[in-house]
Amino acid sequence: MSDKLQQEKPPLLVSRHHKSEDTIINIKEAVIGGSSHTLIAGPCSIESRAQLVTVASALKEAGLTVLRGGAFKPRTSPYDFQGLGEEGLKIMKDVADEIGLVTISEIMSTNQIDTAARYIDIFQIGARNMQNYDLLKAVGQTKKPILLKRGLSATLEEFMLAAEYILHQGNDQVMLIERGIRTFEKATRNTLDISAIPLLKQETHLPVLVDVSHSTGRKDILLPCAKAALAAGADGIMVEVHPDPSIALSDAKQQVNIDEFHAFWKGLCNSGLYH
Ligand code: PEP
Ligand code: MN
Repeated sequence: MSDKLQQEKPPLLVSRHHKSEDTIINIKEAVIGGSSHTLIAGPCSIESRAQLVTVASALKEAGLTVLRGGAFKPRTSPYDFQGLGEEGLKIMKDVADEIGLVTISEIMSTNQIDTAARYIDIFQIGARNMQNYDLLKAVGQTKKPILLKRGLSATLEEFMLAAEYILHQGNDQVMLIERGIRTFEKATRNTLDISAIPLLKQETHLPVLVDVSHSTGRKDILLPCAKAALAAGADGIMVEVHPDPSIALSDAKQQVNIDEFHAFWKGLCNSGLYH
């Protein structure tokens, strides 16, 4: 194709060329994107009502608005806990309605969409499904906001084109989340790609968040990584919280307990970077 023809291609729907102003996602009392930051927190997996009530209450006490928790879990081993499925989503809706929080949970396949839509406010598309194009098209046909995670080894171009699939179907309520990428480094579970934040903010109009739990896989460096993300221009942070991480059914190593969550939140608030 000649350069001229290439230039005539319409700009991507996710791009700043197509839309210069920031996309802001408003959902119930939560706002994601724009001039304010959002901390999304909650357990890796929904395990029980008591577990979720403890975490959700801590979030509410801190003044947060968005609760995360997995019910359909993409686990590396088929022998590991696979999530409570619909039962987990029921618990989540129940607890969130009672306490007053917006909910986010992952769906792994198109046949989970209708069920999940009855219980949760935001669909999460996990890293392992970033290039599941049937799933992207299907959630693009819903009216729910979508949190799209960066694939384990996805380039930023692939990440943006995955988001484009959703917008192309008519759903422009999309948020991007950097969750670390595979590198040779073993000190962290993944490598947090800080440069992805200013680049995605520059190239797209979508909110950009950073998952400090899955990117680092360890809780001792969550706060500095979250501060770095905010300094780089992130619109929000995701962190995993469990009442007793030592007995968590998934990601036990990286989840913080309630006291550690409050300390993390205080650290963010005191950093002068979170507003
Ligand atoms: C999660 O957030 O629960 C999760 C499984 O993360 P990721 O898809 O980024 O691995
Ligand atoms: Mn997890």
